[in-house]
Amino acid sequence: MTTLKNDLGTITEIAKKVILKMGQKEVPLVPENYHVWFDYFTGANQELTTDIENVIAAGKAFDSSLNEELYNKYCGSEKEKELMLQVQKETQNILKNIFDEVLSTNSITSEYVEKLEAYSQQLNNADELSHVQHVLKEIISDTDKMAESSRIFRDRLEEADKQAQALRHRLEKTERETLIDPLTELHNRKSLQEKLKELFDDFSQNGNAFTGIMLDIDFFKKINDTYGHKIGDDVLKIVASTLFETVKGMDFPARYGGEEFVVLLPATLLDNACTVAEHLRKNISQKKLKLVKTGEKIGNITVSAGVAEIQTGDTIEDFLVRADKALYLAKNSGRNNVKSEKDLT
Ligand code: GH3
Ligand code: MG
Ligand code: MG
Repeated sequence: MTTLKNDLGTITEIAKKVILKMGQKEVPLVPENYHVWFDYFTGANQELTTDIENVIAAGKAFDSSLNEELYNKYCGSEKEKELMLQVQKETQNILKNIFDEVLSTNSITSEYVEKLEAYSQQLNNADELSHVQHVLKEIISDTDKMAESSRIFRDRLEEADKQAQALRHRLEKTERETLIDPLTELHNRKSLQEKLKELFDDFSQNGNAFTGIMLDIDFFKKINDTYGHKIGDDVLKIVASTLFETVKGMDFPARYGGEEFVVLLPATLLDNACTVAEHLRKNISQKKLKLVKTGEKIGNITVSAGVAEIQTGDTIEDFLVRADKALYLAKNSGRNNVKSEKDLT
C-alpha cells in the first residue's frame, strides 16, 4: 500500500473518496477491497487504475470474484513480492553454497557450474514467485541429477583406481618375478646381466672398475642325494641369505644358476673383493645346520669362490670366464677356499 505519512489531510481526502466510490460501486467495505481502491485513488499502480477504469467504462459489476482478482493481482502481489525476495535471497544463498561445494570438488563438470551461474542470473531476474519457484525446482532437479552422476562418476573413478592399483601390483609382481629368483629371492641371472651391462658401460665410459665373485656350493649333489631335494632347496636359501646379509650397500648378489652365485662389487678393487669373498666363504661354512624334524646335524656347507676384476679390452664374457676359471682353481685346490684371477697362470 502506498504510504503518505506526512500528509494526513491528503490520506483522509483519499479515504473519503475511496469509501464513497466503493459505496457507489457496491464494493463491500472489507480491508482487502479498501486496499485496492485506496491504491486506485492514489494512482500507485497505473495498471490497477486502468483495470478499474475499464471495468467502470464497461459498466461491469464489482462482484466478489472480480474484487478478489483485483486484490490478488495488485495488492496481494506486495506480499508475494516480499515473499519472493525472501525466497530469492534464500535461494541465492543455497546456490552460493552449492557453488562453493561444487568448486571445491573435482568430480564436477564445468557444464554444471555454467548451469548454476545461469540459474543464479535467472533468480536475480525473476519477478514472480512462481518463476523463482520454477527456477528453484530446476536447480534442485539438476543438482539431484548431478549428485547422482557425480556419485556414479566417483564410483567409477574408485573402480578405475582399484583396477589401476591391481594392475600396478601385477606389473610389479611380474617385474619382480622376471628379475628375482623365486627360491632364493636374490637377483636372477637376467637381473645380473642387466647390472653387469650397466657396470660395464660405466667402466667403458667413465673408467669405474668393478669386481665380481663367483661362488659354487661344494658337493651340493651329495646334499640332495643324502637329504632330498627339499633340504637341498633349504640349503640354497641359507647360502643366499648369508650372501645377502654379508654384502652391503651397492653390492649385488645374484643366483647365477643351480647352486652357483655371483656377487658384483662396484667400485671395489680385486684385493678387497677377495676379502669380501673370504668373509662370504667363512660365514657360510660357519652355519650350523640340522634337520628340523629329527634334529640330525647336516655337515657344514662350504663354498668355493673365484674373484675377477674388469679390465680394459674385456668383454663381459671375458670377465665372467676369468671369475669362473678362478672358481675352478678354488675347487681344484681342495674346495672351501677363494682364488682370484691373479692366481691363474
Ligand atoms: P662341486 O663341489 O664340484 O660343485 O660339486 P657339486 O655336487 O656341487 O656339483 P655338481 O655340479 O655335480 O652338482 C650340482 C648339483 O646342484 C646338481 C643339481 O641337482 C643341484 N641343483 C642345481 N640347482 C638346484 C636347485 O635349485 N635345488 C636343488 N635342491 N638342487 C639343485
Ligand atoms: Mg656347480
Ligand atoms: Mg657345486
